[in-house]
Amino acid sequence: MSPLDLEVFLCRSDNFGVLVHDPETRFTASIDAPDAAAVISAAERRGWKITHIFTTHHHTDHVEGNLALKERYDCEIVGPINEAVAIPGLDKTMADGDSFLFGDHTVKVIETPGHTAGHICYHFVDDKLLFAADTLFALGCGRLFERPAADMWHSLQKLAVLPDETAIYFGHEYTLSNARFALTIDPDNERLKSRAADIEALRAEGKFTIPTTLSMEKETNPFLRAADPAIRRNLLMETRTNEEVFAEIRKRKDNF
Ligand code: ZN
Ligand code: FE
Repeated sequence: MSPLDLEVFLCRSDNFGVLVHDPETRFTASIDAPDAAAVISAAERRGWKITHIFTTHHHTDHVEGNLALKERYDCEIVGPINEAVAIPGLDKTMADGDSFLFGDHTVKVIETPGHTAGHICYHFVDDKLLFAADTLFALGCGRLFERPAADMWHSLQKLAVLPDETAIYFGHEYTLSNARFALTIDPDNERLKSRAADIEALRAEGKFTIPTTLSMEKETNPFLRAADPAIRRNLLMETRTNEEVFAEIRKRKDNF
């Protein structure tokens, strides 16, 4: 199994595009298709042809390029079974726990309802890569459009049990505002403070904050840390459930 090659680019205003290329089969998957022209130019820059689109959820900024890319490359579009009707050009549906091969790389599907009702993440198990789209961001999580906070909390717990060293690619460059918010929830977290300073510097230079790692998120992302005693104390929620603490953090972020 040779290592996968990745191409990451920003498109629309703050969406990340990611191409995942398997040098053995020359398969190239676009993780979502925010913008067909941006995906095509990224592929051409690398001399790759899109063979697959792995759709995470139905929002326009993740599927708008589907039909144009299918027209151009005749690629196969894979996506969440629970949003099948809303995903243009969908060929193959995936449910929670399904796995498939991309070349000889095993990909496991993790359903993470919250941001949307059927959102899925793609876990490249042996490569230790997770494509989390709008479920888990660096220092943030997706807004709750279609499911309540408790569902999102449980979805995030499904990601939190993956190996610590998992590299996480997420859907949007929201990290700077996420960092500023995180400091209001977890102000004494030294690791968070130094990470926030790094992020300020990176963004000031126009650099991206993708990818992150699961261990980094577990130590600094307040949305994964509802059980943390210092956060609970800060929110005056020491006796509440994790779901309630998570819901409060999400609510504060919506109003931040
Ligand atoms: Zn979305
Ligand atoms: Fe999005």
